[in-house]
Amino acid sequence: MSQASEQAVLDAVPDGLLVGGGWRPAASGRTFDVHDPATGAVIRTVADGGVEDGAAALDAAVEAGPAWARTAPRVRGEVLRRAFDLLQQRRDDVALLMTLEMGKPLAESQAEVTYGGEFLRWFSEEAVRVAGRYGTNPEGTGRMTVSQHPVGPCYLITPWNFPLAMATRKIAPALTAGCTAVVKPAELTPLTTLYVAELLREAGLPDGVLNVVTTSTAGDVSGPVIADPRLRKLSFTGSTPVGKQLLKQAADGVLRTSMELGGNAPFLVFEDADLDAAVAGAMLAKFRNVGQACTAANRFLVHERVAEEFAARVTAEVRGFPVGRGTEEGVRIGPLIDDRAVRKAEDLVGDAVGRGAEVLTGGARVEREGTFYAGTVVTGVRPGSEILRQEIFGPVLSISTFGDEDEAVALANDTEYGLVSYAFTRDADRGQRLVDRLETGMMGLNVGVISNAGAPFGGVKQSGIGREGGLEGIHEYLSTKYTLTPDPYR
Ligand code: NAD
Repeated sequence: MSQASEQAVLDAVPDGLLVGGGWRPAASGRTFDVHDPATGAVIRTVADGGVEDGAAALDAAVEAGPAWARTAPRVRGEVLRRAFDLLQQRRDDVALLMTLEMGKPLAESQAEVTYGGEFLRWFSEEAVRVAGRYGTNPEGTGRMTVSQHPVGPCYLITPWNFPLAMATRKIAPALTAGCTAVVKPAELTPLTTLYVAELLREAGLPDGVLNVVTTSTAGDVSGPVIADPRLRKLSFTGSTPVGKQLLKQAADGVLRTSMELGGNAPFLVFEDADLDAAVAGAMLAKFRNVGQACTAANRFLVHERVAEEFAARVTAEVRGFPVGRGTEEGVRIGPLIDDRAVRKAEDLVGDAVGRGAEVLTGGARVEREGTFYAGTVVTGVRPGSEILRQEIFGPVLSISTFGDEDEAVALANDTEYGLVSYAFTRDADRGQRLVDRLETGMMGLNVGVISNAGAPFGGVKQSGIGREGGLEGIHEYLSTKYTLTPDPYR
């Protein structure tokens, strides 16, 4: 990738706040820097929104609300569909932009353009399929109508790990449902959201329907927006601790909330598993996004009869992973998002080893410019190790063993999280039992990646509330109204 093409892509990103259809600087005039995690270099400087800017963005969303809610569903859907088409035309630019600001290998950024784009297409199709129902009440005295209405102005907060998909997974259903929104992207990766917002404008989105506030002070800006009585909905994707804090803030206004929070996914390999499939699934479930995914397999729980072979085979794969800047051909291990992420991987592996685990490959920071941690396999991880409790969010595959199905299920469920689980077994009955017994909102049965725009994504327990994508996704942005009219024949 030439430096000239990198610069051209970066130069195409708006650097202001999108408020009421126009790009503008922060009221304070302040800006903040965006870095390439592979080099630490500053790649762009964007507006650093403050409280005043958050309020202006919400004003714009409130003002644009009634007209957008009245806009024909077909018209709303077509705006999103045009945005989908534009995204496909510019997919190489968007993929490069994501790699530059977030670090993931270019092939994975391309995959995210596909995945993230699908939310625009899926919800463009859903726009005309929002249905209610109609019936006679049980007493026969009246007719009951159930109709769906846009919730109203929404505040959408996104994380840095999937800069495109986490934005489109909220923006597309919100706009399709007839809601207007303010988006606050993560300060580490604001560029992709700015780019997509401009693309939606080009696709014909009316002024004020989508507003974007970039800021280095997320808490300060978000507090007053969430407290504003005109806001109707808060949708957040990010860590569980921040999600809990936001739920408390949202309680004051009794806001509708959707929370996509952290995970601690178990990956179960039974003695009857197809080990080729399990190893291939493990590579995807663990090393996609360099381990920085809420769906990343965090705890590999392997039957004691196959644990040694499984460990040897995943180690052979991981040893061969090329490390480098995401723009380099064939790279599997790109940089982690920042130094804090590298220190977390170091601490978790150090703690596991201190409690008796063994490192089969990796196990250390990669000494080069940027924030890299080696692809790692650690086995014999003992109960009580921090790596079993915390989200690793890095390229570390941690293996523990179990003796039977009951123990596997008990270990898998021994966490406050419940986003996704993976299980590899050839026994169909066991597969069905696991669907019932594993306490997660999603499950991959003999597959290592489950994300799909057509599926309801979300967790149970402390992994979240609500679902994004699928038939369910649009309902996060609709409220149900029941109307009774007297029966016309009585
Ligand atoms: P984070 O919670 O630190 O930040 C997420 C977003 O919240 C960012 O935009 C940040 O600026 C903002 N934020 C932080 N403090 C805030 C506050 N006080 N008020 C308002 N906004 C605030 O999370 P992160 O490090 O960006 O993302 C990683 C986390 O996200 C992981 O825990 C991961 O599992 C989770 N995640 C979950 C899903 C899912 O769908 N369940 C998807 C991706 C990531």
